[in-house]
Amino acid sequence: MLETQSLQLLTEGLGHLEKDFARLPAFTAEIPGGERMNAVMAEVATRMADNFPYFHPLYAGQMLKPPHPVARAAYALATWINPNNHALDGGRASSAMEKEAVAQIAAMFGWHTHLGHLTSSGTIANLEALWVAGRLHPDKKIVASEQAHYTHERISGVLRLPFAKVPADSRGRMNLTALETLLASGDVGCVVVTLGTTGMGAVDPLPEILELRAKYGFRIHVDGAYGGYFGLAGNLDAPAREAFNRAGEVDSIVIDPHKHGLQPYGCGCVLFADPAVGALYKHDSPYTYFSSKDLHLGEISLECSRAGASAVALWATMRLLPLWPGGEFATSLEKSRRAALELARRLAADSRWTVVCEPELDIVVWAPRGVSAQAIFDEAARLDLHLALVQMVVDGQPTLYLRSVLMKPEHESWLDEILRRLDQAFILAAARRL
Ligand SMILES: *Cc1c(COP(=O)(O)O)cnc(C)c1O
Repeated sequence: MLETQSLQLLTEGLGHLEKDFARLPAFTAEIPGGERMNAVMAEVATRMADNFPYFHPLYAGQMLKPPHPVARAAYALATWINPNNHALDGGRASSAMEKEAVAQIAAMFGWHTHLGHLTSSGTIANLEALWVAGRLHPDKKIVASEQAHYTHERISGVLRLPFAKVPADSRGRMNLTALETLLASGDVGCVVVTLGTTGMGAVDPLPEILELRAKYGFRIHVDGAYGGYFGLAGNLDAPAREAFNRAGEVDSIVIDPHKHGLQPYGCGCVLFADPAVGALYKHDSPYTYFSSKDLHLGEISLECSRAGASAVALWATMRLLPLWPGGEFATSLEKSRRAALELARRLAADSRWTVVCEPELDIVVWAPRGVSAQAIFDEAARLDLHLALVQMVVDGQPTLYLRSVLMKPEHESWLDEILRRLDQAFILAAARRL
């Protein structure tokens, strides 16, 4: 059941790497504790089994997606070098691979010039984007929808920038009338537009926000940490399609390769349309930049050490699965979206469930009638079907809903089994109530 192709890929890759360094005198690495490693690994495996089975299609809860085998193998291979993408001195090849990988992501948004790099997470990537917004418009407000990721408010606090929340409509999208009221006060420096909210997968109305920008003047930052890749999918509804089509007209974009991009954790990405913002990052490091006059990524990043292995894994994945509409990567996103639409359709057709709204990407949010969402969540987990919960305020009341992110390509063909177990969970939860 667990994928093991990556082990063979790794062994072959290590063979190539060894050959490429064959000119060096041979040596044997000293490994403290060598004879006890097997025992420790057995313990590690036992400890890891104490997890929900994130790799399995019956895990249909939070935003967790297994890395691609080539990403696993490339990441592991890179750890034999263990490059640091802070400086070319510590990671020459992996820095070049990072620049290529990031350029491919920028090109997906239609950007042929840009400034950008990988980060350890979407949060750090958003921190950099809002930091730049604050440097360019000091003392002006950052605004984001109430459905935006909770970290935007906290990041604004860290940066000591004023922050305001814009109400969302019943589908989880930013309310434009409320946004315009805020803009009219003239003190908004940056609007965070979420293309795919974490809770519902809602897509904020970017075309209308671009119109407001022409009238009021402010920066636009797109948070596509979760949803950013969906611009490649050919099966979005018109409002989401139009928002993604215009994503290239904004000032900065964040996307998380460790969410939908098939990467292990530790891989976010921030992009700026105007390379001149690089000047804001200027610093004097007395230690690091000696091997080359070329751009060291640490010169345009708030973090210092970063895993070169993350860049290598992402580069390998995009080499195998380029970010092209109609390509294999895009097709796989389309499957997730179809799975979400189909799940929502079948739940809506069953009187025991209410679906909050038609999914915009691949997240379905729904509620049981007559039993609590928590009871379904618990019963389903006992049947090895893992869902998520989301709290939303409806008519002033905090209400708990079931939530499924159908981000694995297998989810579409597993829908019958998922619904069969959901049905059983409902029966068990209803019986427990009696
Ligand atoms: C996940 C997410 C983030 C935070 O990214 P991390 O990689 O978890 O730090 C920010 N914004 C959105 C929309 C997200 O879905």
